[in-house]
Amino acid sequence: MRKIDLTNFQVATSETARQINRRIALSLIRRHQPLSRAELARRSGLQRSTVSAIIGQLIDQGWVTEGASASSLRGRRPRHLHLNVERAGILAVDVRSETTRVGLAGLDARFVMQTAWPTPETPAGFVHELTRTAAAFKSAHGEIVCEGMGVSLAGRVDGSGRLVFAPNLRWMPVDLRELLEAAVCIPVALENAASACALAELWFGHQPDDVKHLIAVTISEGVGVGLLLNGQLVHGFGGMAGEFGHVTLVEDGLPCRCGRRGCWEQYASNRAAVQYYLGRQAADEAPGDRSLTFTDVVRFADGGDPRAIETLERMAHYIGVGLAPLITGLAPQVVVVVGEVTAAWDRIGPIVERVVRERSLPAVDTRIVPTDAATQPRLRGAVALVVQQHFGAPNVA
Ligand SMILES: [Zn+2]
Repeated sequence: MRKIDLTNFQVATSETARQINRRIALSLIRRHQPLSRAELARRSGLQRSTVSAIIGQLIDQGWVTEGASASSLRGRRPRHLHLNVERAGILAVDVRSETTRVGLAGLDARFVMQTAWPTPETPAGFVHELTRTAAAFKSAHGEIVCEGMGVSLAGRVDGSGRLVFAPNLRWMPVDLRELLEAAVCIPVALENAASACALAELWFGHQPDDVKHLIAVTISEGVGVGLLLNGQLVHGFGGMAGEFGHVTLVEDGLPCRCGRRGCWEQYASNRAAVQYYLGRQAADEAPGDRSLTFTDVVRFADGGDPRAIETLERMAHYIGVGLAPLITGLAPQVVVVVGEVTAAWDRIGPIVERVVRERSLPAVDTRIVPTDAATQPRLRGAVALVVQQHFGAPNVA
């Protein structure tokens, strides 16, 4: 239970109760569709008349449709309620240091259109490119009404949507949400990519309903961690919680872009693996190095290249070394791993499991699972940012 924040609270009105019941109804339809009004009343415990009023409104607003009648032995056939997944378009954006991917999705996180371009060097350049893409999507799919834009970032944003930390993007702090909302004229939700991936697992993943403590680890150019504890994302002071990628793992270790030494991501990231394969330190990266990618290293390992195999085994070891204290300290039910590394999970996974087992408390029985890259977890995370605003529990008091 949270203590009521006496500096920033909202009292309950009759509208509050209506909003909560509406979101419960929407969430039950989303979870159990197709279902009848009677079933919705039974599952929610709401009066039939209340259910009818809510459903009438949801149908009027286009959130819910009534499908074909189900057969019934008695005369009156109940009509089944479905979520109208095509009603709301969501612009989903995944910003990585080299590539930005943009997709247009429905409420079910299925993408109807996608594109990608090199990530611009400045936030202003990024906003400009994104505005053009949004306009192109709109002219291609004029029938879709965009409810909002979700952006998952290789960086951290604070509560006001200000980008406060993005060493891998090399962008300076900027009021990114304000810039984007002014450009695209729809509500924009920004979140760290790993946190967005954790949310995506909650909304679109196949985790059991009782999973409330979940950690997402994105392994890409850096290492990001998203913390979902007690069913809620943890943001910390100034939005900076989760920066385990910059926790010192090796005393006086390799220099990092954050200005410190020995950070986890200098040993466990894709960039670290590529540089190790090339016989260099990650911070030494030269522009020409981009010709060799982490995906190449995975391919070389599959072809039997001993140095590539050693590189992946070393990376797996360090993924485990960094995960063990996270698991011991936070006791998640699940750790989901996101990134190109999941393509080599047959090789990486057993090493990670062993290192974590050796270094964490035996009482913690956490599952470590790779996500399926085909589901595009980072982009799906951007969709989840908008979906949760319509289906999530409202923040009251
Ligand atoms: Zn660092």
